[in-house]
Amino acid sequence: MDLKYSEEYEAYRAELRAFLAANWPPKGAGAELSFREQAAVFRQHAIDAGYVARGIPKQYGGSERAADVLKARIIAEEFRRAKAPGEVRGIGASMLVPTLIEKGAEWQKERFVPPTIRGEMVWCQGYSEPGSGSDLASLQTRAELVGDEWVINGHKVWTSGADQADFMFCLCRTEPEAKKHGGISYLLIDMKSPGIEVRPLRQMTGTADFCEVFFSDVRTPKDHIVGKRGEGWIVSRSTLKHERDMIGSAESSLLTFRNLVRLAQSTQRGGRPAIEDPAIRQELAEIEGYVRSHVYSGYRQLTAASKGGSAGIASMLNKLTSSNIGHRISRLALELVGDAGLCSPNGDPIMSVNPRGESGWVTQYMWSLGIAIAGGTANIQRNIIAERGLGLPRERAAQESR
Ligand SMILES: Cc1cc2nc3c(=O)[nH]c(=O)nc-3n(C[C@H](O)[C@H](O)[C@H](O)COP(=O)(O)OP(=O)(O)OC[C@H]3O[C@@H](n4cnc5c(N)ncnc54)[C@H](O)[C@@H]3O)c2cc1C
Repeated sequence: MDLKYSEEYEAYRAELRAFLAANWPPKGAGAELSFREQAAVFRQHAIDAGYVARGIPKQYGGSERAADVLKARIIAEEFRRAKAPGEVRGIGASMLVPTLIEKGAEWQKERFVPPTIRGEMVWCQGYSEPGSGSDLASLQTRAELVGDEWVINGHKVWTSGADQADFMFCLCRTEPEAKKHGGISYLLIDMKSPGIEVRPLRQMTGTADFCEVFFSDVRTPKDHIVGKRGEGWIVSRSTLKHERDMIGSAESSLLTFRNLVRLAQSTQRGGRPAIEDPAIRQELAEIEGYVRSHVYSGYRQLTAASKGGSAGIASMLNKLTSSNIGHRISRLALELVGDAGLCSPNGDPIMSVNPRGESGWVTQYMWSLGIAIAGGTANIQRNIIAERGLGLPRERAAQESR
């Protein structure tokens, strides 16, 4: 494990700092624009300078730079320090774009990638259904080819941001006779199409971040399929070997942990600061142990990737570890705020690493339960670690469905 950056990378960092100081926040005429407009102008400069959309070819609106995990890391650190808008966040840029670049048709890349990485086209992910979550390949939403169009009927659920999205990338059953994983196709659907009904679902946080989506004879053109017919399962699993910020989640765990320590310093327990209570100190020390090992595991993965290697099983632990840590931190925080933990959540966004006040910690706690489910539950992560990481036998149901 090598924790230092070489001179070459420190020089790169200095160049980047100078770029950020000159361009963010915008000065002169740009200062009058709204934040969204400022972000769009700045993002285009950052793409031109090679700091944003680095893995995306120029013809699709990216900056097309050679993959370099250390540069990616430095960019993430410096953009965060300068509070500058970096990569467009969200499902479209992080999931659909890499999938299209690897498996999409040329016209699909040209039409969908540029507006998505500029943040102008918003996507939602139509995978889960009422009866198909962990066992996703059992999905029942049907798409039938009629003339030059797919006609879609069915029901998706937990679709994050469906009420705000322009398009959905959706898994549909197109070959009902084929074996479970073989009969699925990956379709792109305009969310304004007639026959789509979106019903937001209100959560315990008070906000409605995901929705149910109903399809009644919804039509999408025949060529809005990514990959071949019946190969949607493989398409949905594909990812590019992109530069990845592999210790991002560990850093947000560290930031949330520091907020927890501040909370323990500022709340009273038995007439003294809670941090002086041996039981609380013990719990804080235990959590810090997990946070530090998560951070160092991230460094290990980064070092392996920078040498062209793979961190193997360590990289399979990231999601499970960060959701476990997030849950323990917010559970202890709720204990510290005492009766104030009964107040209403403030509905702050999911990724908040800086909960404000007691209601912020209530929201953080509630979200920690959802994060353990989103994108594959904790149990499913454990199965993956056991089967693919440790080579244990596959569970019977999974063997039989293949
Ligand atoms: C915040 C959030 C955002 C989401 N956003 C989206 C989205 O944008 N698009 C989308 O398509 N979906 C989305 N989802 C849905 C998410 O992918 C599913 O909730 C998840 O895959 C689990 O499926 P399920 O809810 O049907 O639970 P189930 O699969 O029914 O699981 C129920 C319980 O059984 C356990 N279990 C199931 N199978 C096994 C097994 N084989 N071994 C051991 N334990 C098992 C699970 O761990 C869980 O504890 C989101 C969910 C959340 C919480």
